[in-house]
Amino acid sequence: MKKIIIAIDGHSSCGKSTLAKALGNALGYAYISTGDMYRAVTLYFIEKKVKIADPVAVLAALRQIRLHFENDGTTNRIFLNGRDVSEEIRKMHVAELVSPVAALPEVRREMVHQQQEIGKQKGIVMDGRDIGTVVFPDAELKIFLTADPDERARRRYDELKAKGLDVNFEEVKSNLLERDRIDSTRKDSPLREAEDAIVLDNTHLNHEQQLEVALDWARERI
Ligand code: C5P
Repeated sequence: MKKIIIAIDGHSSCGKSTLAKALGNALGYAYISTGDMYRAVTLYFIEKKVKIADPVAVLAALRQIRLHFENDGTTNRIFLNGRDVSEEIRKMHVAELVSPVAALPEVRREMVHQQQEIGKQKGIVMDGRDIGTVVFPDAELKIFLTADPDERARRRYDELKAKGLDVNFEEVKSNLLERDRIDSTRKDSPLREAEDAIVLDNTHLNHEQQLEVALDWARERI
């Protein structure tokens, strides 16, 4: 059977990784949430106090970073220089700095290169902000996911609360709107719909309904 690349882009906290994972499992494909990569780089920059306004320091730091994913049977875990940082990268201090870090051209060049290497094998679902526009412009299926901002904030708030984190709804909502603003207005590969992307608004869809729609689109292309 033909193996394809599925690109899922869209706004912050609209369930891109959840859909990528479900599609990956249903099709027997690997899935990668590229936001985890930008978050892990951001965590490294925070820990090592890397000055993001200094391109030389940014490049030197990027050379020290090794990222890899491991699947523990249910979910992908991301490792930063051998350390599992999957939980740490979801915290607010990382969320607050990730969009400025992800706007740096040096960071994007390195991440996009690694993502393209991962995708060479095909049979992959990748989610992010620039997957259909920059990383895999030839992806056979491109989905642009979006949802109402209040609904997105509620979902992210519930997710963080369920993990026992002390968060406040307004803080979560303003963080995701601010990330959308920076991600959509940056010069280097801004968040936008690829011309050939299909828009999926999941405000009123549950996980199963979204998966059904996306699976139909994928099967038409396989
Ligand atoms: O997907 P997630 O919300 O975890 O992504 C965190 C941040 O990483 C985004 O707000 C964005 O700034 C950045 N990102 C990006 N390009 C991607 C994926 C994520 O710039 N392909």
